Amino acid sequence: MATSLKVLIVGGGIAGLSLAIFLERAGIEYTILEKAKEFRAWGASIALSPQVLRVFDQLGMLSELQEFGIIFTSGVYYKQDMTKIGAVDLSNYEERWLLSKVPAEKIQWGKRILRTLQNENGAKVFCSDGTDFDADILIGADGAYSAVRQSLYKNLALKNYPLPKSDTDPLRFDQFGLLGITKPLDDVYPELKNATKTHMCIIIASEKPYIAYVRKLKGGRIGWTLCGELLDAELHEQDNSFRFSDWEGESIENIRKDIDSLLTPLGETMANLIENTECISKVMLEDKLFITWHSGRTCLIGDAAHKLVPAAGQGANQSILDAICMANLLHEMPSKSSTDIERVFEKFYAIRFPTAKKAIEGSARLSSLISKRGFIGNTLRSIVLNLPGAITQKAVDAINSGRPILNYVDPIPVQGTVPNTSLPHHLSTDSEAI
Ligand SMILES: Cc1cc2nc3c(=O)[nH]c(=O)nc-3n(C[C@H](O)[C@H](O)[C@H](O)COP(=O)(O)OP(=O)(O)OC[C@H]3O[C@@H](n4cnc5c(N)ncnc54)[C@H](O)[C@@H]3O)c2cc1C
Repeated sequence: MATSLKVLIVGGGIAGLSLAIFLERAGIEYTILEKAKEFRAWGASIALSPQVLRVFDQLGMLSELQEFGIIFTSGVYYKQDMTKIGAVDLSNYEERWLLSKVPAEKIQWGKRILRTLQNENGAKVFCSDGTDFDADILIGADGAYSAVRQSLYKNLALKNYPLPKSDTDPLRFDQFGLLGITKPLDDVYPELKNATKTHMCIIIASEKPYIAYVRKLKGGRIGWTLCGELLDAELHEQDNSFRFSDWEGESIENIRKDIDSLLTPLGETMANLIENTECISKVMLEDKLFITWHSGRTCLIGDAAHKLVPAAGQGANQSILDAICMANLLHEMPSKSSTDIERVFEKFYAIRFPTAKKAIEGSARLSSLISKRGFIGNTLRSIVLNLPGAITQKAVDAINSGRPILNYVDPIPVQGTVPNTSLPHHLSTDSEAI
């Protein structure tokens, strides 16, 4: 391992925090710079897959995470009239959170990165409050609208580096998601009090272009997401400020008219769930695979490199897989010379790009299956969601079978009967992840 290596992680989301936890265990020095002034929950619940649960098991975090997570046993698809279309078995899915595992002094809050620079000797970032930070390595884990990526691409363009056109095209989205978690409703739904298992209910509205995802959470709460198509006017004013904001009450009224009668399998209408939710966030839904992930001492991970639509619940899992791979390779990096750093990033790209590409293609297919309207959409869904269990199981296994761990922490056996298909990530071998 390179001595006195300093890593700067921009972004304290799932990718940045996961990498921080893994570097902490590797004894590698790091700092997270996060633009938010403090941690803020934005009302989403995340489904983590067996692909990444193994590493948390290895770190001894699984049982603790189980305490506030709930196990998803299946995804069940409903028509608007609550008839079931079909189900996909997702046994062993759980949701978790990471922040408490990173020492407080390693995160600097309120640091919005505006631009970055790098040369043979190091990397530097400049923040909106006038401060700057130096490091040997810069990791851009700052999400889909990554400032690190924009700065990296700008600097590459200045050097006439041939960036693929798709890298510089703006993100396009034509769907939004409203999301929230209700207050405890266990007085209304006593069965929610001690719920440990649930399924994700996916309701495909027929009269209006909405898809609702609802699931029971621990503590009697219900997590919900409502996805819909953007209005023409919104499509024309796509700017970055619009991408993520608390949703104003006034705007919600427009949508509420449409979904007032949209039932959920939990017996409540979507309107009731919204009424029982204090903080509702709005996100734009888009998918994009960036081709250029690294140059010099800078590398992108998570949504900054590959943005998935949430239909398949894979974005956070892919971000954590990035972090596992990056930590393994950094741990083996012999020195902090530019050559060794570039070797690590090249290997990281060789391992992670094909897997992220496959995940994006898969989630785009699922998203189109769910959102296709009319006779063709209904017929396709009835066929695909009622395929024999063995076929859907095989597809789910193919997504989840690669379960990498950290090379430098005591190994743990693979749980379950599905063999692990992920090879160890090593700098000097032909390892690859699936
Ligand atoms: C509705 C919805 C449901 C989802 N459900 C699932 C699911 O069930 N399972 C799943 O696997 N995935 C799911 N996802 C996807 C998942 O949430 C994302 O893929 C994941 O959060 C990406 O993590 P990240 O750390 O790369 O980026 P982000 O979570 O976007 O984090 C980036 C961080 O960087 C910070 N930042 C940004 N710019 C700057 C800057 N200039 N300077 C400093 N800091 C900056 C941000 O404040 C943020 O904290 C869902 C997504 C949505 C929208």
